Amino acid sequence: MLYIVSTPIGNLRDITLRAIDTLKEVDLILAEDTRRTIILLKEYSIPQKKILSYNDFNCHQRTSYAVSLMKTGAKVALVSDAGTPGISDPGFFIVREAVKEGIQVIPIPGACAAVAAVSCSGLPSDRFGFFGFLPKKEKKLVEILVNIKNMQGFTYVFYESPHRIVKTLSVMKEIIPERNIVLARELTKKFEEFIRGTVSEVYEKVSKSAPRGEIVIVVN
Ligand code: SAM
Repeated sequence: MLYIVSTPIGNLRDITLRAIDTLKEVDLILAEDTRRTIILLKEYSIPQKKILSYNDFNCHQRTSYAVSLMKTGAKVALVSDAGTPGISDPGFFIVREAVKEGIQVIPIPGACAAVAAVSCSGLPSDRFGFFGFLPKKEKKLVEILVNIKNMQGFTYVFYESPHRIVKTLSVMKEIIPERNIVLARELTKKFEEFIRGTVSEVYEKVSKSAPRGEIVIVVN
């Protein structure tokens, strides 16, 4: 069995009882960053049994190894740095291979920054699209924003780096200045903040002092 285990996105208390049970029970933990996962394991007194790194660089090799183990009956858990594996994080490849091999894939749901941001955005959340990280190239960013401009009735969710947020908003302001937007920053952490307004208003706020930390952008 392959367990896809969600872990906290900031506040270490945001873990489910089932996630703790699963991490205790499995034979192998594949972790995007073993050091971060070890902190979590220590917090919940989960024995540090076999734990291996799993990232974009070694996912082919680690997947073959994990699949061969699971075929002998072993239980494997995949965790990412934070939140739900596979959501703008490594995970898709091993899930696809496990499905191909007839291995049971079991979700252990929990924190996900995109869902936390949408649920507190105050923007319509019955129909939303998640687009992961916005493209770094301005031409591609403009293409996406023009599509958003032409599509009505949906909420869009993006991940963005604090280094690019002001530039991204300055491009957004040219294409969809009046749309309502929410920047959900440092969710579940000490400096959690929601910056709300039209794109132009939010741009005015953040261009004076660029927000730090992790950010989700929610656009109506
Ligand atoms: N798998 C994760 C999830 O389920 O949310 C997402 C991982 S992705 C590599 C990291 C991005 O998620 C960050 O750059 C940021 O946009 C968003 N993110 C993660 N944690 C966050 C937090 N506590 N507050 C706001 N955004 C967060």
